[in-house]
Amino acid sequence: MKLQTKFLSILVPLILAPLLLVSITAHQVLKSNVQDNSQTQTQIIADQLEWKISKSEELANQYINELQNSYVLNRDRIETEINTFHALRPGITNISAKDVNGMQLAHSGKHLDDVIHQAPLALGSLVLTKSSGYFVVYRQAVKLLTSNAESIIVELTLHLPELGQFIEATRRNSHIVIVLRDKAGTPFTQDRSLKTLFSGTSFSENTQSKNAEPIQWNQKQFLVSNKTISNDISMEVLTPTLNVRSATDKLNALLSYIAIGAGLLSVAILHKSIAALVTSPLARFQRHTQNIVKGNTVPVNSLNRSDEIGDFARSFDEMRQHLLSTTEQIEELAYYDTLTGLPNKVTFIDTIQNLIEKSTVTGHQLAIVFFDLDNFKHINDGLGHEVGDNLLMEVGNRLKECIRSHDIISREAPTNGNDGNSMIARLGGDEFTLVLSKINSPEEAAKVANRILQRLGAAFDIGDNELFISASIGISMYPKDGKTPEALLKSADTAMYAAKSNGKNNYHFYNANMNKPVLERIALESSMRSALENQEFILYFQPKVPLDQEPCFAFETLMRWKHPEKGMVSPGLFIPLAEDTGYIHNLGDWAIEETCKQIESWNDQGYKNVSVSVNLSPVQLNYGNPIQTIKHCLEKYRLSPSQLEIEITESGLMQNEKLAISLLNDIKALGVRIALDDFGTGYSSMAYLLKFPIDTLKIDRAFINDIESNPESLMVLEAIISLAKNMNLHLVAEGVETKEQLEILQARQCNYIQGFYFAKPTEAQEAIHFFNSYYEQYQEKAS
Ligand code: C2E
Ligand code: CA
Ligand code: CA
Repeated sequence: MKLQTKFLSILVPLILAPLLLVSITAHQVLKSNVQDNSQTQTQIIADQLEWKISKSEELANQYINELQNSYVLNRDRIETEINTFHALRPGITNISAKDVNGMQLAHSGKHLDDVIHQAPLALGSLVLTKSSGYFVVYRQAVKLLTSNAESIIVELTLHLPELGQFIEATRRNSHIVIVLRDKAGTPFTQDRSLKTLFSGTSFSENTQSKNAEPIQWNQKQFLVSNKTISNDISMEVLTPTLNVRSATDKLNALLSYIAIGAGLLSVAILHKSIAALVTSPLARFQRHTQNIVKGNTVPVNSLNRSDEIGDFARSFDEMRQHLLSTTEQIEELAYYDTLTGLPNKVTFIDTIQNLIEKSTVTGHQLAIVFFDLDNFKHINDGLGHEVGDNLLMEVGNRLKECIRSHDIISREAPTNGNDGNSMIARLGGDEFTLVLSKINSPEEAAKVANRILQRLGAAFDIGDNELFISASIGISMYPKDGKTPEALLKSADTAMYAAKSNGKNNYHFYNANMNKPVLERIALESSMRSALENQEFILYFQPKVPLDQEPCFAFETLMRWKHPEKGMVSPGLFIPLAEDTGYIHNLGDWAIEETCKQIESWNDQGYKNVSVSVNLSPVQLNYGNPIQTIKHCLEKYRLSPSQLEIEITESGLMQNEKLAISLLNDIKALGVRIALDDFGTGYSSMAYLLKFPIDTLKIDRAFINDIESNPESLMVLEAIISLAKNMNLHLVAEGVETKEQLEILQARQCNYIQGFYFAKPTEAQEAIHFFNSYYEQYQEKAS
């Protein structure tokens, strides 16, 4: 049921019930008033009748007195006297004189021969005739003048036309029937039905009670009231109930109309005011709610009221505003990345779609640049999410700068990483994407990729940390590498993986052959998880042969993965993978333990001067806890700390210098030696050599390769050697494959030679065997 109907169904009875009650009460009061009225009417009628009769009585008395006083009445003259008297008084109908015995002495006037009824009245008798109506007959004794005290009876008949006229007129005009009755109850009427109506009922005074039931006569209802007029005559007054009814009914109808009118008016007013106060504001709220549901949030300010509805409107508006801001936030969340404020994947895909449509008109190419930070996972895990988040924000900022300065694309000022022609987005984690439109050749995309690598190469100051990171970038081109945004993204992602596998910190364009290695990489990643448990990893040892010094047994451990299906997998393939997944921590710890175990075994076998260097990944160094493992293994296998050396690369030191320095100092404090690997390939900075507690420099194979033929390489080699000598560092030459190379190095007093010329990395047994036979030859030569 509608609210308005409910209100009305409650309120309408509340209004109508009192109105009806008033009208019923009024009806009752009126009814009793009318009855009272009919009694009063009866009384008035009775009074009038009484007055008329008493008037005739007075007249009769007057006549008789005149007769007695003015006429000489004796037996002989009586006839003449009566006639004379009568002739002078036409108001008298007839007059007669009788002696005491009833003998008629004289008579004048006409006889009443059509008498219907005659009844004694207190002083005379009332007569009703058929044709002339009512008469009163008075009788009185009159003394004769002649004889002594002889009396005669004089009878005087007077006509009462007013009485009949009055009764007739009352009946005619008001339908009120007046019936006179004598003491015996016989009615003065010719009407048979009236006669029957009153036959049997006796004469009594004021029989009618107030609430008497009406009687039925002449097919109508009458209220009967009764009144005594004289001792002998009573009067019945029949008032038709119709008269009473119609009066009360009229009033009743009037009251009903008033009640209905008042009711309708109240209903209308109620309807209006309920509508104004409650239902129309509610309907408005409903419309507003529907608008809000449809996403159209118009203010509800038009309801400026001071009542509860007004309060409700204000709360409603607050709710709407809250909803509005929540919706905006949701939209922001749905389309933008909360951390960097860059568009997210949804927006990015939309943008690519738009640019694809545009480029079909312009004929330009599109480039999707997909990049992933190298080793970001370790920063996040090792230094905490806050550092990770800040780094990502900074990366976002630098990327924005990169497109801003992109001369082809960025003519208009970009906002939020989007200038209409290009857009940077964050897909999630450390993956960012960039779309470049209006590109004429892939070289333009390569330029941007290079710029990004360059910009990311500079140190990031995040809190107390100075962080260095790199990125691997994959690029796909529209329309060559995909027709849809999704396909283009997938191709760019594949190319990015290829860049990662290729040593990171570089970019790769997509080509169709790339899918295979990417899939292989994914398969390898999953099989690596159980490889340690399955003892699929082994350590190879490569001898480092000392020159011009005491014989010693020095090795570098190099890891191998004997994959059950793929055979021997190169560390160049699986180490980056293990670094990406964080698996390197387990693998690195395992390598340290295996190395120490092997040293212990050789110690036990009685070998003197055994020392082994083990490679430590930058990820282990920066985000792991290698010191614990080293300490534990030295104790467990009872090694002299100087028997162990760790090899680190420049890139490992660069990522977080402060941390690296303190960690290396701790390692150094244990007595473990530290070697800087691949020296010459990175920054080869003097500063590093001074800042870090380095014991050994390992010259990278790239410089050894062509020292015989390339004087420049030789110059670099010589510079490194003199640097090492000056700084009192041990020098290891890696990748020595030829006698010539060996001799050049020998002549320049390099400390150790590592390379295929002497021995490849092999199993421990074989590696120690190499030295055994090497020293045998050496001794032979010496002797
Ligand atoms: P690296 O530390 O620079 O190791 C030397 C690499 O040069 C080894 O490759 C070795 O087999 C190779 N090599 C040695 N002498 C010669 C030579 O005369 N000619 C040529 N062509 N190559 C020579 P490998 O074993 O494939 O290892 C590659 C890289 O994998 C290593 O480079 C190292 O960075 C990493 N790696 C290997 N084992 C481990 C490990 O246990 N932990 C960590 N973190 N990294 C490891
Ligand atoms: Ca090494
Ligand atoms: Ca090396």
